[in-house]
Amino acid sequence: MTASSFKDELVHVSALNEYVYCPRRLYYQRYHDEIGTPYELVDGRSKHRGQAERGGWTTERYFRDDDLGLHGKIDLVESGDGTLTPVERKRAESGDYYPSDEVQLAGYCMLLECAIGESVNVGYIYLYSSDQRHAIHITDKHRRTVREIVRRISDMEVDNVPPLTDNPDKCEACSARTYCMPAETAILEPEKANETGWEGHG
Ligand code: SF4
Repeated sequence: MTASSFKDELVHVSALNEYVYCPRRLYYQRYHDEIGTPYELVDGRSKHRGQAERGGWTTERYFRDDDLGLHGKIDLVESGDGTLTPVERKRAESGDYYPSDEVQLAGYCMLLECAIGESVNVGYIYLYSSDQRHAIHITDKHRRTVREIVRRISDMEVDNVPPLTDNPDKCEACSARTYCMPAETAILEPEKANETGWEGHG
């Protein structure tokens, strides 16, 4: 196996966030090349570029770790007091961050600590919408969650579509909705909506 083909089998840290949001959404993003780039991602990238040019303090650094099975680019690594702290920036128009953002940040902290050989127990989530940043203490539970999700993503198969989300509110803003068709599924294949948030929504 070549190094590049192995890299392709690593899980991207952003996929952790997608999986926590909805495994089915990640499935469509992974196996169906039909989903346009979500507006949030395009807008987020343009904001990243703006930040990167400001004062030269942003360093977008790529990390990978084969044992973790993860790779990804950290927006910014702060080095105040000699302590390295990853910063993940989010649009978050709701004014808050989500559990999926915490898991993504934990993934970055784990990648960074593999690279430097020291524990990285704190990361920041910066919210553009409020210009606030939130310190997140990375716990053993975060680390177990990251490892478990990496395992589940690695085990994904094209013939095994994950169930509908248990929170239909998430579907409102989901870029995969036109392929996933949750309402149509609940009507036409109600057995597939059992024990999801979509039963009875058809
Ligand atoms: S539409 Fe809903 S169930 Fe379907 S992928 Fe998106 S969030 Fe998941």
